[in-house]
Amino acid sequence: MNGLVQWALDLLYPPKCMLCGRLLENSEKMLCGKCGQALPEYDGPLRTVPMIDTTVAPFFYEPPIRDAVLRFKFHGMQGYAGQFAKWMAVWVRDHLEGQYDLISWAPCSRLRRWTRGFDQAELLAKALAAELDGEVLRTLRKIRHNPKQSKTANAARRRANVLGVYEAVNPAVWAGKRILLVDDVVTTGATVSECAKMLRMAGADGVVCAAIAVTGPENK
Ligand SMILES: [Zn+2]
Repeated sequence: MNGLVQWALDLLYPPKCMLCGRLLENSEKMLCGKCGQALPEYDGPLRTVPMIDTTVAPFFYEPPIRDAVLRFKFHGMQGYAGQFAKWMAVWVRDHLEGQYDLISWAPCSRLRRWTRGFDQAELLAKALAAELDGEVLRTLRKIRHNPKQSKTANAARRRANVLGVYEAVNPAVWAGKRILLVDDVVTTGATVSECAKMLRMAGADGVVCAAIAVTGPENK
């Protein structure tokens, strides 16, 4: 960006750490030094989710990443998508290289998209595709507006809550291809598993998954 424009923007919107909100001196970065040191980096074995070959995420769903995800989804910080995608791309390159042909996402319903103004998984998928120089394509549509997964307590209920809520979009275009499915957070995996099932039934040749964060095994 033009230096003068950046300077004016910084005056109007002082750059803040995306995790703790502290003012930053360097607008090129999105994190303060303290948060950069304290990220809940994922260090467990790769999460196994039914219907998905491999699931990766750079973080555990814990503070301060959890707070950033919530601001991204509910408080207008869609600009975080680029930074989340940079982190996700590291894991995709390390673990999923050569395992997918196109990038897609677990969509929210039209009602939620309309009330929120955007689909957070779509934003992430597009940012990730830009980061990885990959093709991004809508493959699914949510045909029923179900209660939020985050308000649905146990694993069996979460699976039942998403059953039959997705439908394939233009499967003839992507049948026979392997799909990298993107979602914001993987908790029990019920949502992405249901998405992967529909993708496979519609002809996908394989499904891998990338998220910003996964919950620890104790929250499964
Ligand atoms: Zn910070």
